[in-house]
Amino acid sequence: MFSLFVVCYLLSLKNIFCTIIFARTKFYMENTYGDRMSYDLIIIGAGPGGLTAGIYARSRMMSTLIIDAAEVGGQLVSLYPDKAIQNYPGFERIQARKLSDRLYAQVESLGCEIKDKEKVIDIMDSDEKLVVITDKDEYHTHSVIVATGMGMFRPKKIGCKGEDKFENKGLYYILPPKEELIGKNVIVFGGGNSAVEMALIADSVTSTTIVHRRDELRCDESNTIALKDSSIRTVMSSELVSVNGDDSVRSVTLKKGDETFDTEADIVVILIGISSDLEDLKRWDLELTESGLVKVDNAMRTSRNGIFACGDAVDYEGKYKQITTACGEAATAANSAYKFVKKPYWA
Ligand SMILES: Cc1cc2nc3c(=O)[nH]c(=O)nc-3n(C[C@H](O)[C@H](O)[C@H](O)COP(=O)(O)OP(=O)(O)OC[C@H]3O[C@@H](n4cnc5c(N)ncnc54)[C@H](O)[C@@H]3O)c2cc1C
Repeated sequence: MFSLFVVCYLLSLKNIFCTIIFARTKFYMENTYGDRMSYDLIIIGAGPGGLTAGIYARSRMMSTLIIDAAEVGGQLVSLYPDKAIQNYPGFERIQARKLSDRLYAQVESLGCEIKDKEKVIDIMDSDEKLVVITDKDEYHTHSVIVATGMGMFRPKKIGCKGEDKFENKGLYYILPPKEELIGKNVIVFGGGNSAVEMALIADSVTSTTIVHRRDELRCDESNTIALKDSSIRTVMSSELVSVNGDDSVRSVTLKKGDETFDTEADIVVILIGISSDLEDLKRWDLELTESGLVKVDNAMRTSRNGIFACGDAVDYEGKYKQITTACGEAATAANSAYKFVKKPYWA
């Protein structure tokens, strides 16, 4: 009887404790974000553009939510996590995943709310606010920044025999982690920066060949020099006919002119570009450029009131798709959203 009394007493103490914690959290959330599902700014996309917009928005104390359909980090984590970025100011070299982690940590420390694996489906007008509808919920906001990059991008397929059969069984569209490459014959297909950079990473741990269908690569001079200084074997003017093997990849068949020949391979990496899925931008009723990307003015305003855009999702004459340009545009977009929402006397 006494032990029953002690258990009941402890349970009621626990309930009181939980109620206090809940009330304090609610008080904090309401004072930080107002109505939990209502924000000053919602940023769609957590690539470098979206994360930088978050940093600027929070420095202006805007209640901010960032939503990403996939992982935080955008292309840096989904396409080239192991690549050493050598053109982000302040770092001579920084691994893409590490740069993404740092941006993430900075945004979180400033009090941005972040939701990943949640896809934005629509942006609706509602009285004075906008309603962002996702596949899980809906959120009210005074402004939106579209930082969706190339949308829900997919790597381009090469269209050869065996491609589907060996996908993820020796044939990949992003370079597997270095540890998985050791002792294997790696063949990279493609002639742009991505292909050369990934071949250089593979070459640092194993025997690597790069195959390109043209007679000249299409990459930066620094990559051409690094390639010449490496032990990578280059096979130019050659096409991939088939990927061959049993349970796993054993070889590839290449065609150069009229000649067809086999080369041993354990891992095939196809890096011939990205197909972007820009359907979302059409659905959101934003004015688009001929390239299907968002049209913006100098303040990163879109054709819809209260909606701004930055990064790879936007296009204008001279646009250069890079991390630094996405970050610069993000700063402008966040500043414009701030002026739009808070209407400071100086704006
Ligand atoms: C192989 C490769 C190497 C590169 N190397 C460099 C380099 O060395 N230096 C450099 O400066 N640049 C480099 N770039 C370019 C750079 O990665 C991009 O310019 C940059 O990532 C653009 O950032 P972003 O934030 O605009 O878009 P992204 O990084 O594309 O991020 C967009 C995010 O939006 C999300 N999203 C899309 N649609 C929705 C939706 N409907 N709802 C919610 N979320 C959505 C996506 O999941 C994604 O996470 C490289 C690109 C590639 C492909």
